[in-house]
Amino acid sequence: MNDDKQAAVRDPKYYFADGSVIIRVEDRLFKIHKSRLSTNSSIFETLFTLPESTASGSGGREGQSDENPVILEGESSIAFRSLVWALYATPPEIARIQHSSDMGHIETVADVARLAHKYDLNEYESWGTECLSHFLPFLPASDLRVYSILRAAILCHDEVLQQSALQRIRNGIRDHLYDPIDAIKVADDLGFRPLIGLAYYYTLSNARERVDSWMSHPELTRDQRIRLMSGHCQLVALGQRQRRILPSHPHFCQLQSRARCEATWKSYMNAAFFDVMSPDVLVVLRAEILLEAAAKLEPRCQTAFKSAVHNLAIFISEADLWKVFADVQ
Ligand SMILES: [Zn+2]
Repeated sequence: MNDDKQAAVRDPKYYFADGSVIIRVEDRLFKIHKSRLSTNSSIFETLFTLPESTASGSGGREGQSDENPVILEGESSIAFRSLVWALYATPPEIARIQHSSDMGHIETVADVARLAHKYDLNEYESWGTECLSHFLPFLPASDLRVYSILRAAILCHDEVLQQSALQRIRNGIRDHLYDPIDAIKVADDLGFRPLIGLAYYYTLSNARERVDSWMSHPELTRDQRIRLMSGHCQLVALGQRQRRILPSHPHFCQLQSRARCEATWKSYMNAAFFDVMSPDVLVVLRAEILLEAAAKLEPRCQTAFKSAVHNLAIFISEADLWKVFADVQ
């Protein structure tokens, strides 16, 4: 413990000589003004008024010396420094970031939003998520900081921002701009089901027949590989079952159109279930491609085609995709 205390260093900027409380986060000491935190945050207000621990030893009152600081656990010093930055930023600085298209601030702002949510600093939280919503459209398509935005959006319960970030990640994975294995790591870390489904699914579907590309991937844990294997087996089994019972087409079109309508139907179903052979994990989302293909059928038969697609045994919506990769019981 003593070694720990000796290792802590004062932050070069946020250790104010006239500060009223010393806070230690990881190996860094901040000396700031209690009022900056406690006027905005009931959590800090409570923290600063709690009776002191009796084990404070020789360091004097808690938070009054480098030897006996208030210790914040479970947070990185970089993230806490971002929050302190926001608390001491001037209104012009705040406004400049809010209207900037400079992506260099994303990580700082995401940290501010996350910690503001955690410590109940409501105004800073909304400022942070608003900035992130503003930044997102300017973010280059392959930029991995989209995951920091998603993380903040999830922790702050900002569903609109979550969906926008998820949409970018989904497109990026489909267009091979993001590695779905990175997405698996983030998804499992956050426990965010919509991303779990997408990340695992696209890891399988991008790999196609090359099962070994994820089976031996050094960045995947054993549990993640087991989930992939289990999902792979389930999807292949579903696809094979479906191939045996392709839905027939009840026609509503005129008799003279029937042959062409029937041919179109068959070619789409065949493309969906036979052209890409085993291990055909693509069939799940292919149902969505089939729905788009309905536009090419005779108009009167489009509805019948769509309902046949919806009734496919393999049809799994993207929102339910995570269930395929749930832990094996
Ligand atoms: Zn028809």
